[in-house]
Amino acid sequence: MYREVLLAHNEQPHHFYALSQPTHAAHGHNPLCGDEITVHLRIESDRIKEISFTGQGCAICKASASLMTLRLEGLSVTDAEKNAQGILKWLNDATAEQPDNLGELEALLGVRKFPMRIKCATLAWHAFLKALNQPAISDKHEGSACGCCGEGSGSKHPNGSCGCGS
Ligand SMILES: [Zn+2]
Repeated sequence: MYREVLLAHNEQPHHFYALSQPTHAAHGHNPLCGDEITVHLRIESDRIKEISFTGQGCAICKASASLMTLRLEGLSVTDAEKNAQGILKWLNDATAEQPDNLGELEALLGVRKFPMRIKCATLAWHAFLKALNQPAISDKHEGSACGCCGEGSGSKHPNGSCGCGS
């Protein structure tokens, strides 16, 4: 059952695209598995108006990111941050209390039995928390790192592939 939920989200991930005008974004990398994703946010009036992710990862990584977008979109920034912290604590600490109304996120419960895979499941959530403190650079990159994908100058984004619009 849990496995099916993860497989379904891996095959058809929700919100799996780059936002055209993200206000915030952050990149996450899990070298243990090779997962690399970027979380994009559009925050307006202290609310997560839109959230999406791009990149590549294993089934657990993508499923967790997909479930995360469904969980956090529409929440206030404060609630979303609390939510993400609660989920991370629950994934990392087997003695932590289970957060309320997990819904399909309960599917990640099975991952806790495999410590090697926990970083796959937590990657998107860490990237989300990082993104909250990382406004996307909407102008040209001007030699500084791109807030969306962490790459260098704008020339590295052929045809706006990173979604930051530069
Ligand atoms: Zn992984």
